[in-house]
Amino acid sequence: MKALVLEERGKLSLRDFPVSMQVGPNDVRIGIHTVGVCGSDVHYFTHGKIGPFVVDEPMILGHEASGYILEAGSAVTHLKAGDRVCMEPGIPDPTSRASKLGIYNVDPAVRFWATPPIQGCLIPEVVHPAAYSYKLPENVSFAEGAIIEPFAIGMQSAVRARIQPGDIAAVSGSGTIGIMVALAALAGGCAKVIVADMAQPKLDIIAAYEGIEVVNIADTKLASAVAQATDNWGADVVFECSGAASAILDLPQIVCPGGTIVLVGMPVDPVPVDIVGLQAREARVETVFRYANIYDRAINLIASGKVDLKPLISATFAFEDSIAAFERAAEQRPSDIKLQIQVAK
Ligand SMILES: [Zn+2]
Repeated sequence: MKALVLEERGKLSLRDFPVSMQVGPNDVRIGIHTVGVCGSDVHYFTHGKIGPFVVDEPMILGHEASGYILEAGSAVTHLKAGDRVCMEPGIPDPTSRASKLGIYNVDPAVRFWATPPIQGCLIPEVVHPAAYSYKLPENVSFAEGAIIEPFAIGMQSAVRARIQPGDIAAVSGSGTIGIMVALAALAGGCAKVIVADMAQPKLDIIAAYEGIEVVNIADTKLASAVAQATDNWGADVVFECSGAASAILDLPQIVCPGGTIVLVGMPVDPVPVDIVGLQAREARVETVFRYANIYDRAINLIASGKVDLKPLISATFAFEDSIAAFERAAEQRPSDIKLQIQVAK
């Protein structure tokens, strides 16, 4: 079966790749329809590694996917051939201590698509646990199904924040994840979300959503915009999605007394934190790593029409043009939010 393979850093090929298609009793075999190109896929392409995860043998890329069931294992009851689904890319060990606690996203044994040595899903068929495959309602497209993965990180961030209705939130960084976080925060009950970045084209895209205000930090600091919007009180919740050291240092000036900071962005290296500034506001700090028990709710929000992710899909490439899709993603055009690859015709 042809797959999009990262042979080594900087070298992609679309070629036959041997994968096992053995369907266990609790598995489903899925025809992949659409796969989103994620920043992590692009980072493996351009750098060959992310932190301790190094691509030292050929690896299929892709983890944000939707598709349709081709075959269901003998013990699977909630899915049947023909059902449209999206998939969680991380498979934990269901017997692990983390899984038993419901925090399977931090199970050290999790096997996550396109994270060495686990293969990704830019290939026409995959076998996946049925428990991590979610049926898509009629009115949710394959493209929306494939963008649920990054939206799930936004949802996890909103859950970790413990938003209360009417909260004012600030989001530092309007990359794909910052945008997902802002939309999830609105859906989670925030009255207003102030999004800050330097990339005006991205700010323009997110500003089109009702309830979002944007700040270009080239002219205005996020702290001043939040102070102005809140009578100098501060934001109830600050979502740090930039991973930038300067933004992290500024967090105490943005959060309100007793407020919450959610660390979503991942700095490449350790960065300084103003601990006394946080203590003086008795701020609660939360961290986010992927998501757990989020997909059903994310699908519900999209199906209900309360969250519309379609404007965030910037371009769709045919499977044959996958390498071009990755080359464009590596250009990091400021107007591109999400590029997708349609694997099925
Ligand atoms: Zn992703």
